Amino acid sequence: MTHISLVPIGLEDHAYLAALERFVADTFRLPTRVDAREISLQDAFDPNRQQYNSSLLLRQLIAAPPRETERILGVVDVDLFIPILTFVFGEAQLKGIGAIVSLHRLHNRFYGLPEDRELTTERLLKEAIHELGHTFGLIHCSQPQCVMNSSTYVENIDQKPAELCPACQRTIRAERGAPANDGFRFPWWGKK
Ligand SMILES: [Zn+2]
Ligand SMILES: [Zn+2]
Repeated sequence: MTHISLVPIGLEDHAYLAALERFVADTFRLPTRVDAREISLQDAFDPNRQQYNSSLLLRQLIAAPPRETERILGVVDVDLFIPILTFVFGEAQLKGIGAIVSLHRLHNRFYGLPEDRELTTERLLKEAIHELGHTFGLIHCSQPQCVMNSSTYVENIDQKPAELCPACQRTIRAERGAPANDGFRFPWWGKK
């Protein structure tokens, strides 16, 4: 059975993963589970920037995917970057197998505010669906009420919902080759 694999990388607090597992499974209608993998955070550390190169982590993640893995999502709590940007919330391969998200800038404490686990979890679900959406072929969506709307700042994440808009849902259906009436439905899909 194909599945979506969630891979914690150097993550001390695994409490977020249970919520993530459920939400990813519901959104993409694919079995989702947490897989333990040996990924080296240290190899991706940039001493000058004091941040972690997300592309290097992504490369490790997709190097030897577990069998029957349809998608892989790495989850870290360190600050990620790509060379042209100050930071990234995550990175994904468009129409590829791999994506990665970071909790680092999703915590209120990063912004000097009291920590709010519920809010952090909500932000993580949105960013995870967003990055996995890219792997299913979705590009950024101009619709503000869509999780594929791009987010530069955490405020942008808070303004958008965790759900895909109908157009993005249709794109994923097409990408997955789902026929019109195959029972492949998103939880908020097809409410008549
Ligand atoms: Zn994006
Ligand atoms: Zn959309």
